[in-house]
Amino acid sequence: MSEYVKSLMAEVRAKHAAQPEFHQAVEEVAESIDIVLDRHPEYRSAKILERIIEPERVIIFRVPWIDDQGEVHINIGYRIEMNSAIGPYKGGLRFHPSVNLGILKFLAFEQVFKNSLTSLPMGGGKGGSDFDPKGKSDLKIMRFCHAFMSELFRHIGPNTDVPAGDIGVGGREIGYLFGLYKKLRNEFTGVLTGKGLNWGGSLIRPEATGYGAVYFAAEMLGTKNETLEGKTCLVSGSGNVAQYTTEKILDLGGKVVTLSDSNGYIHDEEGIDREKLAYVMELKNVRRGRIKEYTDKYKNAVYTAIDANAEFNPLWNHKADCAFPSATQNEINAKDAQNLVKNGVYVVSEGANMPTTPDGVEVLMDKKILYGPGKAANAGGVAVSGLEMSQNSQRLPWTREEVDKRLQLIMKNIHGTCVEMADRFGTPGNYVNGANIGGFLKVADSMIDQGVV
Ligand code: NDP
Repeated sequence: MSEYVKSLMAEVRAKHAAQPEFHQAVEEVAESIDIVLDRHPEYRSAKILERIIEPERVIIFRVPWIDDQGEVHINIGYRIEMNSAIGPYKGGLRFHPSVNLGILKFLAFEQVFKNSLTSLPMGGGKGGSDFDPKGKSDLKIMRFCHAFMSELFRHIGPNTDVPAGDIGVGGREIGYLFGLYKKLRNEFTGVLTGKGLNWGGSLIRPEATGYGAVYFAAEMLGTKNETLEGKTCLVSGSGNVAQYTTEKILDLGGKVVTLSDSNGYIHDEEGIDREKLAYVMELKNVRRGRIKEYTDKYKNAVYTAIDANAEFNPLWNHKADCAFPSATQNEINAKDAQNLVKNGVYVVSEGANMPTTPDGVEVLMDKKILYGPGKAANAGGVAVSGLEMSQNSQRLPWTREEVDKRLQLIMKNIHGTCVEMADRFGTPGNYVNGANIGGFLKVADSMIDQGVV
């Protein structure tokens, strides 16, 4: 690590204590960008990196709400408006009890580079709440979403800040949030993405992150003249990203053998086929059940509980060719990465954001496997959100084929940018450097153009 990165990180840690995920995300980018700063002293003198790591604005607010029994609850709401150099702030809302300022800042920071990589005009943001939607009735969810939007509506807008979904925020939540925004503002605009099809949503948006992660894996495999046909894949999570990752792997002839939630995972040696996937979608999206129930229906599959404090996650310890972490941050540690490699995995495409710890990434890079970091591999979701914004502006919906074609092209281009930037800056095959540098350059040049603001 250079002296410059060391001193930058010391300052970040001192100024923003107790935000380990944010430190992790910044350090990775700083290490990739160091060589760019050496070659472009104008970025260093304009303090571009130092400015990019500070959010333009952070909004923190109280979210009081009343449940079905009349009890009052108080959650914390956040919106991090990280960078608007290339477009309105754009990024999801996460509702999960683990949500805090540091986690949302890491997500918003990553989002800046990811959005830039899509080549669409979107700045970076992220938000959410420590509210836990798990097991709550639709009425409670609606009450919370309305309480949350009753403050957030002042800070967002179709040309200012356009939130979307993330963990715990899917179509149902976006609906409730949009409903109150529309009422308070008295206008029907594209202020949120991930909307329902009847009211401004885009075809393929729910599928986009998962499909995109698989398209990215296919591009990486293409560099070895291989495809996903016949490949065995490990997928974690069982939410939006995991479900559509599984669907696209099936479309491309691969076999998915695992899915998980925060309590445990199922391993189905025979593969999760379309009928089983439809069961999972109904279980998770309609009945809002737990993945354990899969083994009640499909007796051949094995359920194993996951202990978050254990040395390794057994999900990553099965024979396979590809892995698609699609649950949450830091779900693959160094031991998991070693297990993946030991079991034959040579492609990792990250559907989740920062699912691999830094020492896990080191293992994957040392072994020279095809490793697609989240900010490149999962950019398909926000890319189609960008396409949803375009359709909303035109007031014209595009066909499924049109959106899917654009998504595939965007993922191909992101892959191309990663490869080109990694080559140009002397680290061929390093998708981490390629993604960080590719995302950085466009934002840095725009910031220089716009002066010190
Ligand atoms: P969902 O809420 O639909 O699903 C999340 C899944 O991950 C659930 O199975 C959940 O299990 C599991 N999970 C969540 N937190 C944890 C945890 N701490 N430990 C273990 N498992 C956990 O979210 P998404 O599918 O939308 O998001 C998954 C990942 O993809 C996140 O990292 C998100 O940031 C990233 N992402 C999502 C995009 C999108 O378009 N939705 C875009 C780009 C990235 P449980 O039900 O038990 O909580």
